[in-house]
Amino acid sequence: AAMPSDSPTIFDKIINKEIPSNIVYEDDKVLAFRDIEPQAPVHIVIIPKVKDGLTGISKKHSEILGRLLYTSKLVAKQEGLEDGFRLVINDGPKGGQSVNHLHIHLLGGRQMNWPPG
Ligand code: 5GP
Repeated sequence: AAMPSDSPTIFDKIINKEIPSNIVYEDDKVLAFRDIEPQAPVHIVIIPKVKDGLTGISKKHSEILGRLLYTSKLVAKQEGLEDGFRLVINDGPKGGQSVNHLHIHLLGGRQMNWPPG
């Protein structure tokens, strides 16, 4: 069942450093950390440091969304992914989303294929 968008998730605990994570980038608005179950040699999750989880994306989120995308590019460079990388957003149950807090997956370090399945 869908949770209300303001329900805390595991990512809130990561933001609040209540559980450990391997953080690769952090600023006042954005946090990036290594995925606990990596699907590629480089697999980083990039999230907004917001309380409502941003599940319902709307126009008022456009600034943070741009910042998340830009940060993804910065982190890709930091990880040495000059030959390319993939960004993925899983949205909703049919999108394969498991954590109800907006996040971008940064995947790299191997050849990516299309379609992803
Ligand atoms: P989703 O399936 O919602 O698109 O992505 C959630 C991602 O978060 C998954 O790839 C999952 O492995 C990762 N994840 C879930 N819990 C944790 C955690 O406690 N620590 C870290 N580092 N990653 C997590």
